[in-house]
Amino acid sequence: MKSLIDQLEQEQALSRENWIRLLTNHANLDLSEYLFARARRVQNRYFGHDIYIRGLIEFTNYCKNNCYYCGIRRDHSNMHRYRLDKETILSCCSTGYALGFRTFVLQGGEDPYFTDECLTDLIRTIKGDYPDCAITLSIGERDRKSYQLLFDAGADRYLLRHETFDSEHYASLHPAELSAANRQQCLLDLKAIGFQTGSGFMVGSPGQSLENIADDLLFLKRLNPHMVGIGPFIPHQDTPFRDYPAGPVPLTLFLLGLVRLMLPTVLLPATTALGTMDPNGREKGILAGANVVMPNLSPLSVRKDYALYDNKICTGEEAAEGLLNLKKRIQKIGYQIVIARGDAPETSSLEPK
Ligand code: SAM
Repeated sequence: MKSLIDQLEQEQALSRENWIRLLTNHANLDLSEYLFARARRVQNRYFGHDIYIRGLIEFTNYCKNNCYYCGIRRDHSNMHRYRLDKETILSCCSTGYALGFRTFVLQGGEDPYFTDECLTDLIRTIKGDYPDCAITLSIGERDRKSYQLLFDAGADRYLLRHETFDSEHYASLHPAELSAANRQQCLLDLKAIGFQTGSGFMVGSPGQSLENIADDLLFLKRLNPHMVGIGPFIPHQDTPFRDYPAGPVPLTLFLLGLVRLMLPTVLLPATTALGTMDPNGREKGILAGANVVMPNLSPLSVRKDYALYDNKICTGEEAAEGLLNLKKRIQKIGYQIVIARGDAPETSSLEPK
């Protein structure tokens, strides 16, 4: 199996059959350690020991979609819905800037209240106030015209996980009005427009097979995104998937290592979901190849309302105010948080560090 990891490192690709063989062995500790050491070597080559931070602003928990796994799905009525106004969002940016954040991630449910006009105005204001910062959007599926307007207004990056490549598996996680094909088309549109684009998927979502994951990896290889978000599925008590088990942390870490070898310069977060499942999840993620963390910059009063899954970490270390603590924890494992936009390196002009 180690020879497959060597092959992956050298060729940055594997056949579907070999992906499945490797994934079948993800619980082998010796193999995982071997993979993580290789992944760290590649991570250190391109990023040194730098870890980029992104300030996450969860600006609306209204959503018109009804994804079966998600705690802010439309049919979840037993919850408090909120939208942050422009002034509040700007004040989150101001707090974040002072703390050293140079990327703001505006994430939310698919909320029709936030029209193109409203969002472009917001993006222009943030870019005017913080010209040295990057804006990442994570607001779901929109039409290409809308994406273009957001890009022209100054948004730099867009996160849209493909969730699962396989259309049947996709259909088992989402209602009929959502499709894998449209999700993938959105990603192609975002890339063609010029966004630094992020995709990714949940690990251990109900019905997910290792074959599905192999197809996810093959899709990511073809898409060649700038960012990849991979985190465990975690059930939410008020969703149809309440009784399914959470996705395994070891498989999530294994996948972070594989993605680091497959896409050496990708921006790869150690996700909040990983930190929720394991108190040392973020450190373990970094040691498996991740190089980004995304602390929460949303106002404390709404953090508990952006509950995508049960027990989401939303205070203490996760809060931006806990940044100092996070810095110490990251230093302890030999890495450092840097004040930088942390753009995806251009692969063509890449100088190893
Ligand atoms: N609405 C936007 C979208 O669809 O991309 C952004 C918000 S959405 C809540 C962000 C991500 O949260 C999704 O892409 C999904 O992978 C993740 N997510 C939602 N429910 C989850 C759960 N129960 N466990 C783990 N991750 C979840």
